[in-house]
Amino acid sequence: MSTETWKKVDEYFTKKLHEPESIMDNVLKSNEEAGLPSIDVSPNQGKLLNLLVQMKGATKILEIGTLGGYSTIWMARALPENGKLITLEYAEKHADVARKNIEHAGISDKVEIMVGAALDSLPVLEERGEKDFDFIFIDADKPNNPHYLEWALKLSKPGTVIIGDNVVRDGKVVDEDTEDAVIKGVQSFIDLLSRNPHIDSTAIQTVGSKGYDGFVLGIVK
Ligand code: SAM
Repeated sequence: MSTETWKKVDEYFTKKLHEPESIMDNVLKSNEEAGLPSIDVSPNQGKLLNLLVQMKGATKILEIGTLGGYSTIWMARALPENGKLITLEYAEKHADVARKNIEHAGISDKVEIMVGAALDSLPVLEERGEKDFDFIFIDADKPNNPHYLEWALKLSKPGTVIIGDNVVRDGKVVDEDTEDAVIKGVQSFIDLLSRNPHIDSTAIQTVGSKGYDGFVLGIVK
């Protein structure tokens, strides 16, 4: 099976199952125009996040890794009127693009972007008393994934859904001899999950427009 086929099938499902909506397409366009890397979730993955937020009935979401706000907007659009999403982004430029995209999507009142290294922003969130998130999406620098998981657990409550993106990485996750800090970060993340009695999780491999990858999905006990 080729990457070409995965792409075609991804496009097929997007066309068939998504409302034709310019809002989400415009986000990708504006990211491209601003020169952001095309490392956002795919449209089908974005819609999956949107559906999961609805299934969970989440009102409070934390995202680590905003980029241009593509996944942010997919998730925030599933929030109810009183819902809130806080997203953490290191790069000022990415945050600026995301801010504009969020404004164009008409959901600025629901979304707060915190600019800076997530490991600096997370303690600030704790100090502000921002905890008990219903839904946490981890999608930033993978070497820090183990730290992000610890913070996610700290800021969660029983029933919180935690999702970590890009855990398969072309199958490299099973390479025990890897020296790659990204893969090692993912492996430590999975090890922590496997040892932690407070979260029940699984991982799903995916193929599509973003190649061969996957995500981890867990629920806090
Ligand atoms: N979630 C986004 C989406 O699907 O549209 C994609 C996020 S992209 C894979 C990862 C983002 O994390 C980048 O914008 C990068 O600048 C940001 N990032 C990297 N290191 C970070 C850190 N230490 N703290 C916060 N954000 C970081």
